Amino acid sequence: MKPLHFQIDAESGEARAGVLTTRRGQIETPVFMPVGTAGTVKGIRFEPLESELDAKIILANTYHLWLRPGIDVIRAAGGLHRFIGWNRALLTDSGGFQVWSLGALRKITEEGTEFRSHLDGSLRFLSPEVSMEVQAALGSDIVMVFDECAPGQASHEQTEHSMNLTARWATRSREAFNRLQAEGADTGRVEVEGLSGAQALFGIVQGAGHLDLRRNSLEQTVNIGFDGYAIGGLSVGEDKSLMFEVIEDITPRMPKDAPRYLMGVGTPEDLIEAVARGVDMFDCVLPTRNGRTGQAFTSRGKLNVKNAQWTNDTRPLDETCGCSVCRRHSRAYLRHLFTSGEMLASILLTHHNLAFFLDTMRGVRQAIRSGDFPKFRREFTERLEASGE
Ligand SMILES: [Zn+2]
Repeated sequence: MKPLHFQIDAESGEARAGVLTTRRGQIETPVFMPVGTAGTVKGIRFEPLESELDAKIILANTYHLWLRPGIDVIRAAGGLHRFIGWNRALLTDSGGFQVWSLGALRKITEEGTEFRSHLDGSLRFLSPEVSMEVQAALGSDIVMVFDECAPGQASHEQTEHSMNLTARWATRSREAFNRLQAEGADTGRVEVEGLSGAQALFGIVQGAGHLDLRRNSLEQTVNIGFDGYAIGGLSVGEDKSLMFEVIEDITPRMPKDAPRYLMGVGTPEDLIEAVARGVDMFDCVLPTRNGRTGQAFTSRGKLNVKNAQWTNDTRPLDETCGCSVCRRHSRAYLRHLFTSGEMLASILLTHHNLAFFLDTMRGVRQAIRSGDFPKFRREFTERLEASGE
């Protein structure tokens, strides 16, 4: 039996709408996963995330949780779900991207990556085996392989070297993962009818902006065999047109019957454009991070709540948004909260932004199912363009 079940119910061009069944519930796709870096989606409690926003899955970062509080604490608490009080699905990244973004503070060898902790400067070592051990201790429902990410502007030779290292690390991740499952190291195991109850493991396609390397990486990753496939190393500073060129080339070559996950992307319009090219899953810090700095995502583009022009504006952030923040509060009030340094400002903006991302994806799914996705996509873009974004 498999750890996941993925069923596609409707298609529109390359876009697909379906249901991903995990050991912790069903997730309608395409799906946006809010990012819960350190075991918290910053600025929002789990209650509204579950009840009003109805997020079915969130992401947590292996790197951050491994350094603090550490896996002994999380293991002793009975795994990450119990530790943080979230019983729906969890996806954990491998730590590879965080270590990669440390830049000069890390050293990469065949064995793994040596780096200095951003918390206390201590020397740490992360490898496929360590990442799989940490993710088993966290007990997430979807585990990511440990990969290496070439910089967006890397040469063909540099990228090829990095991509092949990722493939060798993917093999080692798969072997370590299988061993840990057999040993019962997974703290999140549950018995579910029709599924194995084990963690699922996703592979990651790398290769930066080089299409031949992307295809090669995909072939090597599929040959190893995973429950889902991610496209990594995009949205790291390359042009948007290159990002979509890579997605457009790679997704139609990915296994049709497995979920496709575009890592770390993006704005609402990026999500819609990637869905149109066949992507099923997304995560991004934008709605939460920008919420904390006073930026709202709306159907008419981005809105900076700090601007003086909202001082007496009694309209909600987005007149077409039905979230509890837009139903109750005005732009004038939100601006007042921000300029006063009130913590509620970040909380309310984060709530609205997540509602906007999750509602957009709900609209995407409905449009694919009803055959209206091309119209939905066109109207979404036209609204943004009309507002000058
Ligand atoms: Zn709203």
